Amino acid sequence: VKIKSICRCCTAGCGIVAEVSGDQLISVRGDTEHPVSHGYICPKGHALPWSHDRPDRLDYPLISGRRVAWPEMLDDLAGKLRGLIDGYGGSCIGRYEGTGTATDTLGKRALGAFLNGVGSTQFYSAVTIDIAPAFRISQLVAGSHKLQPQWLPEDPDSSLVLWIGSNPAVSHAYTSYLPDPVRRIRAFRNRGGKLWVIDPRATKTASIADHHLPIRPGTDYILLAWLVHEIMDAGRLSEAFFECTTEAQRIRLRKVLAPYVLHFVADATGLVQADLESLREAVIRSGRLAIVTGTGVNFQQHALITEWLRWIVLLATDSLDQKGGMWFNPGWLEAFDLLDEPLPLFAEALERAQSRPDLPRMMDELPVAAMPDEIRAGNLRALFVNVGNPMTAFPDPGTTTEVLGKLGLLVVADVARSATAEIATHVLPVTGQMERMDLMSSRTAYAAVAPPVVSRRSERRPMWWVCGQLALRLGLDVLDGAHPDEVTEADLMRGVLAEGRKDLGDLLAAGSHGIKLPEAWGYMRERVLPNGTWNILPAILLDRLEHLDPSPTEPRSFLFVNGRQLSRNCSTQFVPPERSRDRPVASLNPADAAALCLEDGALVRIVGEDGQVIISVQSDSTISPGVICATQGWTDHNVSVLCSLTRHIDPLTGQPAMTALPVQLKQLRSPDTVDR
Ligand code: SF4
Repeated sequence: VKIKSICRCCTAGCGIVAEVSGDQLISVRGDTEHPVSHGYICPKGHALPWSHDRPDRLDYPLISGRRVAWPEMLDDLAGKLRGLIDGYGGSCIGRYEGTGTATDTLGKRALGAFLNGVGSTQFYSAVTIDIAPAFRISQLVAGSHKLQPQWLPEDPDSSLVLWIGSNPAVSHAYTSYLPDPVRRIRAFRNRGGKLWVIDPRATKTASIADHHLPIRPGTDYILLAWLVHEIMDAGRLSEAFFECTTEAQRIRLRKVLAPYVLHFVADATGLVQADLESLREAVIRSGRLAIVTGTGVNFQQHALITEWLRWIVLLATDSLDQKGGMWFNPGWLEAFDLLDEPLPLFAEALERAQSRPDLPRMMDELPVAAMPDEIRAGNLRALFVNVGNPMTAFPDPGTTTEVLGKLGLLVVADVARSATAEIATHVLPVTGQMERMDLMSSRTAYAAVAPPVVSRRSERRPMWWVCGQLALRLGLDVLDGAHPDEVTEADLMRGVLAEGRKDLGDLLAAGSHGIKLPEAWGYMRERVLPNGTWNILPAILLDRLEHLDPSPTEPRSFLFVNGRQLSRNCSTQFVPPERSRDRPVASLNPADAAALCLEDGALVRIVGEDGQVIISVQSDSTISPGVICATQGWTDHNVSVLCSLTRHIDPLTGQPAMTALPVQLKQLRSPDTVDR
């Protein structure tokens, strides 16, 4: 049988055609009729049959590594949770949501409702080690973290796009969600659009761009500050910018940006002055433009300022919520374009972690950086990890492993074994993406419901069912009064969609192609923005930029940056290892490798300020000199040891710096240090 569905290995949501026999997933190919992905799928999508039945798939509940039946698991877990609630209060029970839960709408809601029911105040997620700066800026400027400006390559008025620290040809973008990226970027260029890639690496996306600027890692904010300076100097500030700012604010901005002049910016960023001038001309000539960032920006120490300056450039060129610029997805459940009342101004009156009052909450979450101290202080004693792998994904895996080991209860719900599942007290084998009903609606340009493609096997159960069973045992209700054994996923989804634009019947009738969201433009100021204006120049950010010291890092250091690999998302391998060329390896420029007498495969020790890792190297001409690049998420050779959970934490987001880190290389099996 052939069934159309949606790949959910990442949030791009490509359409697929799955070949199914009984409960077996035989093969997956791209759905050529899908309105967005047009038949494209990446290797992760092709390998869905493997990942669905992968050798390390979790099929049975485990307590301390011992296989048990579900009733024993649920009774034991509920009893232990009851003991913690009675002894310490429900606030000591927390959850961590990994990126693997992005489309499990029912499971995430049920776990959230369950933990709210027990009185938990401890909610962590990958947001604060991934995307917190982008979210915080949209909260500050537009009123909601969900309002991320997106580039639509098919917008006929779009003529210029800058991709900064992002490689959509591999990552499929970050907040702009780009299935079928290469074909769509080429189509944009074929009709005259210009693409600039600003990245220390000549990425696959850079190879299909008009221009590539190999910027020094960590200096993107300097480039953007200069662009704002130049737009102001050229007298090209948009009317929208004037309408949303006071004269006093503009005078302050001009003063703060005064140091960002061409020769200084060229020195600091390592870019050639003539290239910078070409970029300036392109921006000023284009009028409206799109600027897309990725983890290469959001992992930086100054990510918040970089993201903010991006928004300033966009408003200064009247590119926010305007064709030819960037679109705001109005959302399926939120329906921002239909709001009767604008959003309230974001106010930072946030409850903080007791043990880390220096760190703010993001939305209703505590930052991951607060978790170790919260565990040590006894404020967090039980943790549900929902499809995530903190031991590998968090910065400073040594500390993470140590503190997770102190928890009385570590409950891992996942589809596959992981380093964290190995040390869990309770392991819950939950259904995977092909066995459950999901809602695709977060920020893709269409909304769709994907029913199960195959029936679940072994002892796998949906996360919502597990939460419903635990709630019953603790006298709570998380399924709107329904019994977990009697309610269906369709019933639960109907409840979720009661908040949305159309009901379940409409979405099921639309199938995997879903229903396109209104391509609403120009609605933000009237319907959404607090006080009808972009809060583009908050004093807190002007103050911060004024006091930044943009001096380059010590010249004898390498700078470590992160990269992405096509077969993986963070720590999850989605392609059989024997069919993937992705390995834990550090890449560096051939000239650097030659200068250090490093042959491909040589082992080096990368030594940072916060840790060190042994890893093999390979020469790669796409890497800028002085840069060393590796991918996070490998359990062995984990470069996350180079990042800290205590230093370089942004006080407005709680997110640690995870890229552009100064490091030194030491060759192994040699007494000499090969510093540079
Ligand atoms: S880009 Fe790849 S992983 Fe993401 S949805 Fe498409 S096929 Fe799946």
